[in-house]
Amino acid sequence: MVLKKITELTSFLKSSRNIVIVGHQNPDGDAVGATLSLQHYFIKKKHKATVVLPNDYPDFLQWLPKSGRLYFFDKQNSQSKKALVESDIVFLLDFNALHRVGADMQNTLETYPNDFALIDHHQQPEEFTYMYSDTSMSSTCQMVYNFIEMMGDVDLIDKDLATCLYTGIMTDTGSFRFRSTTSTTHRIIANLIDKGAENDKIHSNIYDSNSCGRLLLLGQALRNLQVLFEYKTAFITLTDQEKKQFNFEKGDTEGFVNYALSVKGIVFAAIFIEDQEQKIIKISFRSKGKFSVNKFARKYFDGGGHDNAAGGKSTVSMEETLIKFKALLPKYQKELENSYEA
Ligand code: 5GP
Ligand code: MN
Repeated sequence: MVLKKITELTSFLKSSRNIVIVGHQNPDGDAVGATLSLQHYFIKKKHKATVVLPNDYPDFLQWLPKSGRLYFFDKQNSQSKKALVESDIVFLLDFNALHRVGADMQNTLETYPNDFALIDHHQQPEEFTYMYSDTSMSSTCQMVYNFIEMMGDVDLIDKDLATCLYTGIMTDTGSFRFRSTTSTTHRIIANLIDKGAENDKIHSNIYDSNSCGRLLLLGQALRNLQVLFEYKTAFITLTDQEKKQFNFEKGDTEGFVNYALSVKGIVFAAIFIEDQEQKIIKISFRSKGKFSVNKFARKYFDGGGHDNAAGGKSTVSMEETLIKFKALLPKYQKELENSYEA
């Protein structure tokens, strides 16, 4: 396949098009922020733009401003398929491989006859016709901002669009604290505030929306914290029973893994969350410094992501998963020792 730069779409986008914008399964703040903001932009440019997400997103993102049609592939299957069939191009946002939309939607996308355009910051992306892939970027939302800038349309960014972009950049950078946050990220954020993004409200909407159940679940997660100082590693477990006990809702465990990483001296953190419905243990990995959790998740837990934030899964029991995880650590002791200098 001859890969083209996303800017080569300029002339194609001069006429009004029917566009579908897709994000990954279990969409996070960056995926939702990026898809909704690109939709705002295309609608302003007089295109028809529909967002299709594999499934719904958590409550703490529901307040984000929407401007057009939004379908969830699992619940609005026929509408989603119709939107895809009728579209001239599909934008893929915040994921690097088609399987990240889940098997059902992947099957549908695999037979899509027109072009895909990728905008994403994950490592080792699959190839699509139009590519804007940059792993140095803090977030896909930062890339959507850049895309709008490349199209010469920064003037079109209004309050709603700025709010969606701000949210994605904020959530993917851990509120501007990860290494991927550059001075350019801050300059973009400053522009978004000038365009009307209300930073205090956005932070409050996202971070001050805890249910009591979520806080109690966090209490349980923290009680389950295990710290292995010899490997600079800490991890958390949550069983299905514990999730039920505290009325688990989608998105409730978001960010829990960061508590494990916040233990002084720890450079490698994980959370293992049992999901009896899907019959997997879903894992999130985080690291500080050079130790690549992307490589670790890819190699041992059928996953991937970024150098310092990745995910994966295990199909054996929690107990067996933890045995496997702990048995891997000695091999990485030196690497973990030297990963990060405070
Ligand atoms: P989280 O731990 O917040 O779910 O995900 C961290 C990062 O890893 C995100 O960028 C996410 O897209 C990626 N990621 C999470 N789970 C998986 C997975 O199972 N496979 C792959 N390839 N990436 C994942
Ligand atoms: Mn992202």
